[in-house]
Order: sequence, then structure tokens, then C-alpha cells
Amino acid sequence: MDKMETNNMFEKAPTVLSKGKYLEIVVKLTLQDDAIIRSNDAEEVLTYKYKDLGNRFIIPWRKIKGKLRRLVMEKQRGLGIEPNCHLKDDLCMTCPSCFIFGGTGETSKAKVPYNLLSRIMGETFISLTETKEIEPYTQNAVDEVRLDTRREGSSTGALMSILTVPAETEFIGVITLRDPTLEMASIVIDNIGRLTRLGARSVEWGKAKADILGYKFSDRETMYSIELAKANGEVNGLTKSLNDLPMVDAAYKTLNDAVKKELAAKGLKAEKSEKGKEKEPEDVVAEEA
Ligand SMILES: [Zn+2]
Repeated sequence: MDKMETNNMFEKAPTVLSKGKYLEIVVKLTLQDDAIIRSNDAEEVLTYKYKDLGNRFIIPWRKIKGKLRRLVMEKQRGLGIEPNCHLKDDLCMTCPSCFIFGGTGETSKAKVPYNLLSRIMGETFISLTETKEIEPYTQNAVDEVRLDTRREGSSTGALMSILTVPAETEFIGVITLRDPTLEMASIVIDNIGRLTRLGARSVEWGKAKADILGYKFSDRETMYSIELAKANGEVNGLTKSLNDLPMVDAAYKTLNDAVKKELAAKGLKAEKSEKGKEKEPEDVVAEEA
């Protein structure tokens, strides 16, 4: 299945309420050089011991989503579309980026009485190779050093872990787009290709390369990173490329107009309703931005 007619799989226009159409995009991230992960955040998960896969490096979905969102916003700004839309409290709630990644109206500067559901979903990316056992509080010269900076007699202190992920480590995962239009797919696919570095403040990744292994349309999420990792990234039955995707710059402009039209059609406006009457938030669920 190299190419297939995919036009009828896409929504004609963005819709605020979900229609239950899913486009799953299988993505492989390959590190181009060694990456150093420094973390003093106890919540930060860098490796995980899977029952069937052993100990693996992992990249939490929120890191990939956060980076992808920044890339989408950056490019959108470059096209002059809602250039003042910013994370986290200055979301405009009317642009392609807000529509794809979601947002909470009340806490955004726009102060709109609605939330936007995230159209993009994902899960933890898992390395295709095992990492050595991580032993907390011990020094493992090759793979991991944990530095306990806690001073004697002090009840507080920072615990820092430093972890090296070797070059050529491959990570597999699925990014799912809900109720996609051709424009949404074009934007997300273009920006997956721009994922050349990952991480937030506490993580420094080396350069990476993102490859899309294929696509699948469904009425639900059907693929899981853990299954893909078990299969060593070999997935059968994927569509290799999508026909008729618009050029990305045009896609941003078309989607921007279409989102504003859809919000207006649903009566979702930037101002609160007249005469001081608070409008009830629409029945749209927000997800983590
Ligand atoms: Zn926005």
C-alpha cells in the first residue's frame, strides 16, 4: 500500500466537536550524536523498565508535543498569522496552532469563554535498543552518574542525574491527529520533519532526525509505542505517503481562515456575552496545552 486515495478520509473543514476520525503517524526519531540529559527534577522520567522490553530510554510525549507546538507557532508567526499568540497564557485561541494543540480560554489572554480540545495525541517514545540498568545513587562511569548534592544535616537538597544517550539511538512512537483536514496534516507532517532537536530546559538532546514510517486512518487509536518497539519498529500495512497535501504555507493560511469561520459558526467569540451575562463554557474539553 504505497499510495492510496486519502481525500475522503480527511475532514473538509476543521470542526470544533470531534468526529472520531484518526490519522496515526508512525515516527522514528534517530539521534545524530550523543545526547546528554541532565535532570534535577524527580518527576523527570528518562528511562523505564518494561516487563517485555527491558530497560529503555524514553521521551515523554509532553516533551515532543511541546517542541512540536513551538515549531508550529514559530512557522505560523513567520507567515504573519496571529504573531502575538504565545505559550502559555497568551494563547489567541483562534489560530491553527491553538486549534491543533488546544488551549484553555479562561487562562489565556484572549479570555474567551471556551476551551479547545487538542487535536494531536501521542504517547511516550521508546528506544529500540535496551539501555543498561540504571542504578540510583551509584556511579556508573559509562552510562550514568548521579550526583547527590545534599549536604550533611540538611533536609533539602538537589539530586541531579546525568545520562548519556548514545548517537544513533532510535526511538519509535505514534503521533495521532484527530479529525484531520488536509491542511492540518500538511502542517503537522511538515513540522515533524523540523523536529531536529528535542527537550526542554532540563534536557539537552543532541541533534535528531525524524522520519515518518507511514500513516494509518482509523476510527480509534490502533498502534502503541510499546508494540512497535517490540516489533523493532517494523510495521506492516502502513500507507507510505499521502496524496494531495497542500503546500505548508498555503495550509496555514487556509486553516487560519477555516478555524475562525468554524469558531464564528459555533458562536465562539473572543468577548464575553452581552450585558455582563457570563456565557457558560462550551462543551469542549481542554487538554494539557
Ligand atoms: Zn493561537
